[in-house]
Amino acid sequence: MHTKTAQTVVIDAFGGSDKLRLEDRPVGDPGPGEIRIRHEACGLNFIDVYQRTGLYPLPLPTALGMEAAGIVEAVGDGVTHLKPGDRAAYASAPPGAYCSARVMPAAQVCPLPDAIGFEEGAAMMLKGLTVQYLFQRTVPLKRGDTVLFHAAAGGVGLIACQWARDEGITLIATAGSDEKCQLALDHGATHAINYRTEDFAARVRDLTDGRGVDAVMDSVGKDTFEGSLNSLRPLGMMITFGNASGKVPPVDVGMLAAKGSLQLTRPTLFTHTSDHATCQKMAANLFDKVTRGAVKIRIDQRFPLAEVAAAHDALETRKTTGATILMP
Ligand code: NDP
Repeated sequence: MHTKTAQTVVIDAFGGSDKLRLEDRPVGDPGPGEIRIRHEACGLNFIDVYQRTGLYPLPLPTALGMEAAGIVEAVGDGVTHLKPGDRAAYASAPPGAYCSARVMPAAQVCPLPDAIGFEEGAAMMLKGLTVQYLFQRTVPLKRGDTVLFHAAAGGVGLIACQWARDEGITLIATAGSDEKCQLALDHGATHAINYRTEDFAARVRDLTDGRGVDAVMDSVGKDTFEGSLNSLRPLGMMITFGNASGKVPPVDVGMLAAKGSLQLTRPTLFTHTSDHATCQKMAANLFDKVTRGAVKIRIDQRFPLAEVAAAHDALETRKTTGATILMP
């Protein structure tokens, strides 16, 4: 089968969700190291919002979307881990996953186990591989350690709650409503704090008998950064990995000394997955958690691809929980 044209979401300028538009794009044959894939479902992620607004600027015009699942239609020279007809899923650059089919680099595309549906595949690659690197590759965490995880009822967050439970790690969740806090608890968080109504750093001190947590995983950014540092034990690790509330202002590194020789890192998924073999290994770890049932991928919002603007609005205005997918 050869899909010749694909409905694709593009922007010509940075801005609000009104900048998102659909166009029909030709879909050619894969070159060396590439595949052509027909999508069954596409994932929505906060990085798509940052790219749309220009917080993470891209050359314009650009297609958007970093995550999807579907069926491989054709493979180019040198691609050995996939063949036509394979089920596959990915979190990969370049942006352009919001579409019904595309040609793209193969290295970060992973064969999808039969036990995992396309919708789950589209909802879990970017978010699940992020949780994988946060817990397994960023700071040595062991059973009994305690982490603080913000926005724990979101797409990345609900996977993190379950991952922590499976690894025997105590996860203190924060979320923006009591209902979201309950959702985090239901998915494995040990404690949950509504950070719209409570001083989360003070609560973390209470919950840890004054000690502080071993690591903070903070994707909220501007609004939580300082409170996150104040929640760490001496020598603890601050992992700032997103900016849902805005970019973290420049940091005075002396503050890390004053607050107890803290460590600070600002990782991105795509550094961790840039090596093909590493990416496939990380995916195997994630697929194992999901096929064992230790991590369930919760999809709370589904939108037709043509309603991508409404999907962005819902994510940006904190109306979503769990993962959101777009159906081409
Ligand atoms: P989520 O589903 O978690 O949605 C973002 C959540 O952030 C909201 O639901 C909201 O939860 C919380 N939030 C707090 N303040 C704000 C605000 N001012 N505006 C909007 N949301 C706010 O999104 P994703 O699962 O897609 O991503 C989670 C985060 O992880 C994002 O920041 C994303 O950029 C980051 N990320 C980073 C990666 C990396 O490698 N660096 C990779 C993947 C994701 P609540 O109402 O509970 O506060």
